[in-house]
Order: sequence, then C-alpha cells, then structure tokens
Amino acid sequence: MDAVSPVPSAAIEVVALTKRYAAGTPAAVDRIDLRIASGSYCCLLGPSGCGKSTTLRMIAGHESVSGGDILLDNRNITDLPAAARGTAMMFQSFALFPHLSAVDNVAFSLKMKGVARAERRRRATDLLERVAMGHLAERKPGELSGGQQQRVALARALITEPRVLLLDEPLSALDPFLRIQMRAELRRWQKTLGLTFIHVTHSQEEAMALADTMVVMNHGLIEQVGSSHRVYNHPASEFVARFMGGHNVFDTPAGPVAVRNDHMQIAPEAEGGAGVAARITDVEYQGTYVLIGLEQEGVEKARQAVSVLLGEAAFLARPWTPGERVRLSWAEADVRVLGPGVQRPAERAPAPASTLRDDTAAIAAFSA
Ligand code: ADP
Repeated sequence: MDAVSPVPSAAIEVVALTKRYAAGTPAAVDRIDLRIASGSYCCLLGPSGCGKSTTLRMIAGHESVSGGDILLDNRNITDLPAAARGTAMMFQSFALFPHLSAVDNVAFSLKMKGVARAERRRRATDLLERVAMGHLAERKPGELSGGQQQRVALARALITEPRVLLLDEPLSALDPFLRIQMRAELRRWQKTLGLTFIHVTHSQEEAMALADTMVVMNHGLIEQVGSSHRVYNHPASEFVARFMGGHNVFDTPAGPVAVRNDHMQIAPEAEGGAGVAARITDVEYQGTYVLIGLEQEGVEKARQAVSVLLGEAAFLARPWTPGERVRLSWAEADVRVLGPGVQRPAERAPAPASTLRDDTAAIAAFSA
C-alpha cells in the first residue's frame, strides 16, 4: 500500500473555480481556490446550499464549470468526461443495485466498458477480497449489513482505479448508530488504501471525526481551510465559530471574539467582579457534561444567546438553576479574535492560495 507522503503534494487543486447555474443569479461557487493534499481525507463542510455538492460534482465531471480550473496530479481535467478523470464517486446510502450480487455490483462499470465476464469477475472478486468481503461476493445488497454494503460500494467505486474518491453525503441517510460505525470504517479504509478522499457533509461532528483537512464553505465561498483541530480552536470568522458550535461570540470594542463554551467561568452576579452579565435560561443534563443556556444582558436580541459547558462534577458541586443572574468571564488566552467573515472575491487579496499552503504545513505539523 502507498504510504502517505510526508510532504503532501496536491492531488486536487482548484483555481478560481466558479459555477453560475443561470445568468444574473449569484454564483453557487464563487472563484474558490483550494489544494487538497495527496492521500488526505478532506471534508467539504457547510450549511445546506453553500455550494459543497456543486464543488464536488464539478470535480467529478458531473457538472460543467462556469470558470476556473481543476487539476488532478497537476493534469488539467476541467474539460475531461467523468470517466476519464481519475475520480470515482460514492453516493448517499451507497446506491447499490438491489437485484445484483455484490460481485456484479462491483463489476458493473467494467461490464459497461465491455470487459469480458471472466476478467471483470476476477477483478471484482480481487477488490472484494481487499475490502474483506470476498466470502460474501454472491450475496445481494438486501442480504448484507449496512457496513458490508458500504464495503461493496467502496469496492465498486475503486474498480476504475481512481486517484481520488468523491463521497457525496454517503452517511446522511443512515441511522445515528450505524453512521458512527460507518464513518470509522471509511476513515480506516482511506488510510489503508492511501487514496485521497473528498467527502461532502453538512455535519460538523462528521467532518471533525474524519477530516485531515476541513474546508468550511458559506455562500459559495471558502471561509476557512485547516485541520479539525485548527478550525475548532481557531475559527477564522464569526460564521465558522457559530457554525462549528461550542463557541460563544462576544462583541468587544475591537470587534467580535469567540470563546469556547467549555472555557468559560461562571459566578453568581451577587459576588460582583468583572465579566459579562447574563441570565440562565436552560440547564440541560448531557451525561459527562451539563450545558447551561444563558442570555447576555444589554445586547441585541439576536446576539444574546450564549452557553457554558460544565463537567458533571463541577455542576454537581454548584448546581445552577434557570433564572439565576450570573457573570461570565474567561482567560485572555482563550479569546479568539474573529476575522471579517466572508470576503467577496472583488475585495479579496490577490494571492489567497498562500494561506492554504500555510494550513497544509500546520496540518502536517499537527498530525506528525
Ligand atoms: P450544498 O451541497 O452545499 O447544499 P449545492 O451545491 O447543492 O449546495 O447548491 C448551491 C447553490 O446552487 C444553492 O443555492 C442551490 O439552490 C443551487 N443549485 C444547486 N444545484 C442546482 C441546479 N441544478 N440548478 C440550479 N441551481 C442549483
């Protein structure tokens, strides 16, 4: 198996990639630049409609490009047909043919290419063995567990020997328990195969669990690129801080800042002292943690809500109740100054790619 290269080369590079579905409408993807390291697990993350699937479909060749370029291993694939690109796609709920056996599902694209039956069954069987499914090759999807179906779908995508596997919300239709199992399995296979995976999801939790590189998108633009750790601990903008969750945003004279809700100190207002005045609205027991919901005082309605995440022991030592007035404070080291948020392309600095390269170095350092 290929080892992951210590100095990641870009498997996929997109340059000023743009999609406009109709003239006069806002671009669904607006001149984005991105480099995805070879052999890495990349998640495109963002709310519904932010342009994730459009980006993935343009990389796959399932959607035409309005502007910009897509390179795979430094080869410009922008105008190549899907089958000639070196990419393969894995769809939601795996999209297996129910009437075909596992081996025939895997061999399907070879059949379409006119490969002889014995040869395509041999190659499909080899691949099923590689994903530990050789013994179930003759079963139909309905006779396989969710995990086994996922491996068949993976083998089916790999039969064309892609350099990059594209996954469009592959786990979103599964029940929560299976989803967590399946994502651990996807991650294991990606590392074992040494392939580049690009996975679209709207779930922060899923992206954090899977990604070497997380790409947070909003309104057709990239808000931040970095490791899960970097994005969660250093959100670049208010959008990222709020979208990732677990952060409070406070307005200061110097602009908005974020502080993680598990890094907050909470004290009764009666004790006096510095801090933000707030009133407790909810107390939610979550097992290991207790989530305390609050409203800041003297702040416009839409920006009032904040939260404090306390360990169970800390909460039991001093149980807080709704209606209590408190002061919230935090250590200076926990403050993250937030950037201006989405920059329209016209206002962008000329060389945005350099920040991506910096993040790639940070990822390599973090995962070393
Ligand atoms: P996401 O995957 O992040 O949910 P999409 O890439 O599907 O977002 O969509 C981005 C934007 O493009 C949305 O505003 C969506 O309505 C629009 N869009 C997506 N597909 C089409 C299409 N085939 N025709 C017109 N507009 C589309």
